[in-house]
Amino acid sequence: MSLRIKKGDKVIVTSGKSKGKKGRVLRFFPDENKVVVEGANLVKKHKKKKSESEPGGFQEVPLPLHLSSVQLFCSNCNRGVKTKIEIAKDKTKTRVCKKCQKTV
Ligand SMILES: [Zn+2]
Repeated sequence: MSLRIKKGDKVIVTSGKSKGKKGRVLRFFPDENKVVVEGANLVKKHKKKKSESEPGGFQEVPLPLHLSSVQLFCSNCNRGVKTKIEIAKDKTKTRVCKKCQKTV
């Protein structure tokens, strides 16, 4: 399994109409190499009225983005960065920012 991106990671979108958008990974589709990023690649979807408490209308829904258009966000560098996997002696894997060498 790729450790590059996982659910809950903070990422930045690097291409497309949501370029520069930062958000958490809400869903990850490993088979398709796609992720759904909170607040990015939004499309308006029409929702039918269900009840008085759920009035329907338009709702903005994030569509999946290809992994190649997102990068992990390093809070230390304050930008999207490339990461590498480091394997410790006890076999645990961590992702390390290639720029500042800190764990992302
Ligand atoms: Zn960094």
